[in-house]
Order: sequence, then C-alpha cells, then structure tokens
Amino acid sequence: MKALSIDLGGTHATLAVIDDTTPLASESIPTDRGKGLQPLLPVFAESLRRLLSKTGIALRDCVGVALGFAGLVNTRTGRVLSTNEKYDDALSIDLPAWSQASFGLPFRIENDARMALLGECYAGAARGISDVVMITLGTGIGGAAMIEGKLLRGKHMQAGCLGGHIPVLFTGRRCTCGNIGCAEAEASGWSLPLIAREWPGFAQSVLAQNTEVGFKELFAGAERGDTVALAIRERCLQVWAADAVGLVHMYDPEIIVIGGGVMASASVILPYVQDYVSKYAWTPWGKVKVCAAQLGNQAGLLGAIPLLTDKI
Ligand SMILES: [Zn+2]
Repeated sequence: MKALSIDLGGTHATLAVIDDTTPLASESIPTDRGKGLQPLLPVFAESLRRLLSKTGIALRDCVGVALGFAGLVNTRTGRVLSTNEKYDDALSIDLPAWSQASFGLPFRIENDARMALLGECYAGAARGISDVVMITLGTGIGGAAMIEGKLLRGKHMQAGCLGGHIPVLFTGRRCTCGNIGCAEAEASGWSLPLIAREWPGFAQSVLAQNTEVGFKELFAGAERGDTVALAIRERCLQVWAADAVGLVHMYDPEIIVIGGGVMASASVILPYVQDYVSKYAWTPWGKVKVCAAQLGNQAGLLGAIPLLTDKI
C-alpha cells in the first residue's frame, strides 16, 4: 500500500512516498513558519510529484496524502484548529480541497506527535502493543496515547496530544500554551536556554562557552563533569520522568516510547525515566516499560498508512 506523506516541522518539512513501512524516496524542504502554510502548498505538490516520478509510483496507486502538523488539528474534517504560533494561516486553509485539486487523492491530517505514535505502533518500537504512550522530546514536548488499540483523540481533538503540557511545577515558568509550569516550559528545547542562563554559576560553566545551549551541549557538558550542566541535566531528567508518571496515571499504558533528537543520549535518559516510573507510578499489575523510539525522524512519515487506512 502506497501513500504520500508530509511531516511539517517548525523549520523544515519532510516529504516522502511511502510503501507500507518503507519510505521509497524523501526530501526535506526548509520552511519559514512565519510566512505561513499557503505559500508552501505548491512547493509541497511539486516535491511530491518529483518523488513520485523518481520512484515510478503512479498517483492512482496511492491511498492518499497524510500530513503531520505541529498543532491541534481536526482529523475528521482535515482542518487545523490551533497553531501555537506556527503557520498561523493554516486555520483558514481547506487542505482536503488542496489535496483533491493537486492529486485527486483523499487527505488526512494528524497532530505530529500522534503521527509519530502511529508510526512507532505500525513499524517501530510499539509494534503489536495496544496500550502505548509516546513522548517526543524536541523544541517542545510532544505527547500521544493509544488505549486498547485506539488512538486517543477526544471530543475536541486534543486528548492525549498535550502530554508536554502537563503541569509539573505550578509555580514555574509561563508556557507557550498559556499555562504555567508545563513539562515543556520546564525542560524542552525552547525553554532550556532560558533555564540555563538563569542557573546559578552559568557564566562560569562550559555551557556559557557555546553560542547556543541545546540538549546536545547540555549532555556534552554533563559528560565532561561540568557541575552546572550536570545539575540542569538532572533537573530535565526529573521533569521528563515526572511527566512520564503523570502520563502513566492518565493513560494506563504498557509501554512509554520516548523519541526526539535528545535520544542520542538514550543511555542516560532511558534508565533514569525507567527507574523513576518503576518507583513512583501506581501500577499494581506490573511495571511500565520505557523504551526508545526506533524510527527516528521517520516515525511521523510512517504514520501515513495507519492514518489513511485506520489500520494498526
Ligand atoms: Zn504548556
């Protein structure tokens, strides 16, 4: 089964022709979310046509176009509901009509974290498991949940996908979502530089030698034994682990799959979150397994077939 898949991030979009669990061809296009989604649609159409011709796949053999979007979306209508300062014009765009006009194909949209969960359930770390929570650690923190084989969406399409916006500190930082002390506000790609700069001793730490403070720099600094980096890393691990316990209590999963670029340091993150969840989650039936995503940045793309066919 073949499909066209688009994973739209804040700084770039990845487009692919998918054959079941394999991307046959893909390309990445830089985007400027401030300029909106509308100018990107012809670029996406051109890219997908180029990928189709490269693979020799005919449009009539594709089941549809799938789009993973970093925001709240209505999968039933194909519309974007709320963008959290990303591609603000998307709310007014009729994407199913665009797909029909450009390709003559059905269109489905899904929140990017849910897409990653669908991908991991279909072809990755959660294959064959019906009760799954996914956490994606990146610029923000994505969340998604599957309960008894059903992807959780909810009445207003926001169930399960706000796992990064669970408050872990009600006296904490203001989050981009409007809430205070969300996991994302306390330990994510966008909040880390703010946290680091305010940390006592930051100016003397190795972190201050970098122009940017990202998780790569943080984990490298901690590896070198820098006390500030070690303390901030510990704090981030605590936030993610507390978030994970919250998600276990909410969604009753058998496993938690953690993805995102920071999982390059999975050897530090996984045992920490696993120990914390095993110690603090109330799960008399047994222990929730914490594991790493297997599909990397292809997880969202590979959510296309299960999204378009409602098949896991
Ligand atoms: Zn939030």
